[in-house]
Amino acid sequence: MENKYNRVYNFSAGPAVLPVEVLEEARDEMLNYQNSGMSVMEMSHRSKTYDNIIKTAEKDLRELMNIPDNYKVLFMQGGDHLQFSMVPINLLKNGVADYIVTGQWAKKAYTEAQKYGKINKVATSEDKTFSYIPDCSNLDISPNADYVYICENNTIYGTKFQTLPNTKGKVLVSDMSSCFLSEPVDVTKYGLIHAGVQKNVGPAGVQVVIIREDLIRDDVPEWCPTMLKYKTHADNDSLYNTPPAYGIYICGLVFKWLKKLGGLEKMKEINVKKAKILYDFLDNSKLFKGTVEKNSRSLMNVPFVTGNEELDKKFIEEAKNNGLVQLKGHRTVGGMRASIYNAMPIEGVEALVEFMKKFEKENV
Ligand SMILES: *Cc1c(COP(=O)(O)O)cnc(C)c1O
Repeated sequence: MENKYNRVYNFSAGPAVLPVEVLEEARDEMLNYQNSGMSVMEMSHRSKTYDNIIKTAEKDLRELMNIPDNYKVLFMQGGDHLQFSMVPINLLKNGVADYIVTGQWAKKAYTEAQKYGKINKVATSEDKTFSYIPDCSNLDISPNADYVYICENNTIYGTKFQTLPNTKGKVLVSDMSSCFLSEPVDVTKYGLIHAGVQKNVGPAGVQVVIIREDLIRDDVPEWCPTMLKYKTHADNDSLYNTPPAYGIYICGLVFKWLKKLGGLEKMKEINVKKAKILYDFLDNSKLFKGTVEKNSRSLMNVPFVTGNEELDKKFIEEAKNNGLVQLKGHRTVGGMRASIYNAMPIEGVEALVEFMKKFEKENV
């Protein structure tokens, strides 16, 4: 495309678009980070310079999310998938947990957890291809459940919890991967938040875990590998072993970018505005239709269809030729999906809608 770096509008669900300002900063610091004479990639994670990078990243994240002092912030690796195992291994005490299954990621977490305890599916939206968030105001929560688990924003299906489930006093665990830092959250409502950063915050290979201190236990099962204990990472400020150092550095730059923008209130305002452009168009289009119930819509992932597979294919192809890429829906859903994360500029969404209008005119 005709712009400074010939960049396209990238609607990928993840790894996804990052702010140009952040990439430019990383470029400028690539060969010699702040007079250290080396790249962050080449730097000892035990060095003072790196310690400052990771400590500042944590401090900025705490500020952005208003994270209370009795929560630890952990920078982890292993893919967000590893949290599907770490959560039950570390949090099951009575051996019982309740899962709300609203999509593939929740389902995978639910299935994985079954290896470690009695895991109940207390609600699901599978009956309508996960196109809505079920009513979770009065679920049959197990009296001895160690936690209730949700995937807060369903990346594949484009739904998001608009209100948190009533857990009846039980600890809430949330997979926030695809809505992390997209809007303010009240951290005190959660026992544990985990998020793979490649959706909204940084390069693949880092997961952020925010965990209430009383949930960090030493008495996890004997067989639990040292690396899979939250306590190992909490006791060592995420530096028990070599962390994904460069990825954390980029996350730190994104946290600074968010702070400069005005924080999560401001980010939400922009995200609402962006999503509205697309949803308003979908609600009035003669060709394209959103696939999600209106009151469950995500601000981050917007799936839509024409109702005709051939036409969907043609749309994705022509969009690509116009610099609008990665619009193919997830292989389990088909159709299209536009992921419009924090770093997607409003101009990108406007360009997409303009193109959809043109395509509609030519194909209806
Ligand atoms: C992408 C995604 C995951 C999986 O992340 P990996 O880092 O690939 O393991 C989990 N949960 C949600 C909500 C996601 O969007």
